[in-house]
Amino acid sequence: MDILFIEDDAIETMKLNRTVSKLQLKHNITEAKNGEEALNILKSGASLPDIILLDLNMPRMSGTEFLKILKEDDVLKYLPTIILTTSENRADLLECYKIGIAGYVIKPLKYEDYENKLKKVLEYWDTNELVKA
Ligand SMILES: [Mg+2]
Repeated sequence: MDILFIEDDAIETMKLNRTVSKLQLKHNITEAKNGEEALNILKSGASLPDIILLDLNMPRMSGTEFLKILKEDDVLKYLPTIILTTSENRADLLECYKIGIAGYVIKPLKYEDYENKLKKVLEYWDTNELVKA
C-alpha cells in the first residue's frame, strides 16, 4: 500500500519505518511532519495514498484540524484515515469518530507490542478494498 504517515516525532517515524522493514512489508511510506505538510503533499498532484496514518498532537496543524479539512474535500474525504496516537483521551476519540475516521489505534509503549499491533493494522488494511485500487 501507499501510506501517508503524518507524525511530528522523528522517533515515532523511525519506529514505523523499522517495523515495516523488519516485517518485510512492501509498503511505500510518505512522511509528513504535520497536517499542513500533509495537505501540501495531498494537493501536489502526486498520486494519492491508499491509507493515512495520523498522529493527533502536532504543531502548526493538529490531527483533528487536518481531519476536518480532509473530510470537507470532495476527493480527499474518501481516504481511509487511521489515528495512531498515545492519547487515551475519550474526548479525542469521540471527536475523531464524529469527524470521520477509519480507525483509532493507541500506540503501545513497548516496541514489541507496537510492532504486533501495527502488523495487524497494516494486514487488515491490505485485505480491504481500497479506494485507489
Ligand atoms: Mg505528536
